[in-house]
Amino acid sequence: ARPVKLSVHVHCYGKGKKLLLSRDITALEQAEAMRRDFVANVSHEIRTPLTVVSGFIETLQTFPLKKPERDRYLCLMAQQSQRMQTLVDDLLTLSRLEGSPLPGAQEWSATKILFAQCEQEARALSGVIAPQGHQLVFEPGPACEIAGIQREICSALSNLVTNAVRYTPEAGLIRVSWALLADGRGEFRVRDSGPGIAPEHLPRLTERFYRVDRSRSRETGGTGLGLAIVKHVAQRHGAELRIESQVGQGSCFSIIFPAARVRQPVQAA
Ligand code: ADP
Repeated sequence: ARPVKLSVHVHCYGKGKKLLLSRDITALEQAEAMRRDFVANVSHEIRTPLTVVSGFIETLQTFPLKKPERDRYLCLMAQQSQRMQTLVDDLLTLSRLEGSPLPGAQEWSATKILFAQCEQEARALSGVIAPQGHQLVFEPGPACEIAGIQREICSALSNLVTNAVRYTPEAGLIRVSWALLADGRGEFRVRDSGPGIAPEHLPRLTERFYRVDRSRSRETGGTGLGLAIVKHVAQRHGAELRIESQVGQGSCFSIIFPAARVRQPVQAA
């Protein structure tokens, strides 16, 4: 049986009468522990680049460095502040997702537009990370619309595609597709020929700041929040996030949107 934490209060009333009130605070304690962990993680993530930047500032103030060494330091400082910027952006995205009401059925997002945006991002990132080139294949499938907030779905899809680009070694194959399934649901799928993920990591991948390979994630600009964002977006849209992966065989991430929310776009008259 799981341990239960109780808070007990004794109220005295009337003549020697006592009322014993007990409350199960297990969930409250767990939430508090999670909050503490989260704050510790965020502080650690921010402190690392901050330490690098302040160290470099001190060096530049102490030693009158000349070009090109000075430029090298400035470039490293720019990289670290970009890292902090990305972290803050991801934290804000997560907190917005948690704080805003569930999307209604009023907003429709065209799969063609989602594809175009994420293809543009993936190609730009791939050019920076793997200049030798990944093979990026986009298969937009039938033109559909999904009930949901375009900005959110786009950010989920971009997170999956950028992960595929970042974790797949150069000259790998990344395939992004949209398809209507036999049961009427719609599936975004991002498959890569990267290193794959061992089964013991799979259940924890969507936890905030969980990384299989911490240094690889940092090296390629990861914040450890991408899949937590994807999971939130999927949940908010009643969609299912599936992760299939085997070490040495690549990974496949998919988001499956419920049937009722997929429809053909209205044709212009
Ligand atoms: P990060 O910013 O570190 O990429 P994510 O939440 O997006 O954070 O992913 C969590 C971890 O899952 C990553 O650190 C990485 O170890 C692993 N991962 C995610 N996508 C892939 C992928 N396509 N191939 C291999 N590992 C992946």
